[in-house]
Amino acid sequence: MGILKAHTGNGKVHLGEIDPGFHDGLDRASCAAATAVLHAELTEIQELMYAAGLTGMLIVLQGLDSAGKDGTIAHVMSAVNPQGCRVAGFKVPTPEEASHDFLWRVHPHAPPRGVIAIFNRSHYEDVLAVRVHNLVPTEVWRARYAQINHFENLLVDSQTVILKFFLHISKEEQKERLLEREKTTETAWKLSAGDWHERTFWSDYHRAYEEAIETCSTPHAPWFIVPADHKWFRNYVITEAIVEALRPYRPSWEKHLKQVGVAAREELQKMRLAGGADADGIAPDSGKRKTE
Ligand code: AMP
Ligand code: MG
Repeated sequence: MGILKAHTGNGKVHLGEIDPGFHDGLDRASCAAATAVLHAELTEIQELMYAAGLTGMLIVLQGLDSAGKDGTIAHVMSAVNPQGCRVAGFKVPTPEEASHDFLWRVHPHAPPRGVIAIFNRSHYEDVLAVRVHNLVPTEVWRARYAQINHFENLLVDSQTVILKFFLHISKEEQKERLLEREKTTETAWKLSAGDWHERTFWSDYHRAYEEAIETCSTPHAPWFIVPADHKWFRNYVITEAIVEALRPYRPSWEKHLKQVGVAAREELQKMRLAGGADADGIAPDSGKRKTE
């Protein structure tokens, strides 16, 4: 339980010291079994979350090309009812997006209460790709760490649970995955010419990620560094982190739903007392229509 340690704002991050192949001694089969149990719990929790409509969740997925963002989304989505879950992806900004502040395109995709929003890349690109490629002056991207923290605080104050995952893969694993994409028809669409070029900025990206994680981790919007060379381990620890973050809310959602049920019954009772039976013709307490 709780294999992934959340970064909540203390200390330096050294990605070079974290093994992307780490799997905590677990194997594929035991991970898959444990993940299935968590999946079932997530399905149940999300239904309550959606019904109660009190709390939203934002899941930020970041990582270098082929780190597993798409695979993670497919995996998490398979546990939840799509009605209560949304996915937003963030690519190179369009001219219109680029003519606004960097959070302009992001904020509309923040989850409403009751809903899980998954970001495939996010506002963090503006301190990652933008920093690595010098797309804006240093003082502009530097100021963004504080702006991101303010933005995320606003969401947290508006009943949003935030989890941020950096999918940490090794350079060798990336090479294999990119080569694999090239060969396989179903995944060739994912490969862009830029991926091999981006790979040459590996250590710059790592440095940028380290600073983003160090600077933008808070107890209410933690970053998790996910060893992601093994997809089954990645799926397991991310599902676990999501379930563990939502589980504590469950009693309050259940209580709320109970109150909603009581209020609805009281309303029906009032209508019955007023008219002997309610307007639709349901006989008091019989649950049957009078005409039946
Ligand atoms: P992908 O998600 O692999 O389809 O690629 C999207 C590309 O858009 C990645 O190379 C990102 O780094 C890039 N990108 C996303 N957001 C931004 C941004 N705000 N500024 C510059 N590049 C970005
Ligand atoms: Mg890509």
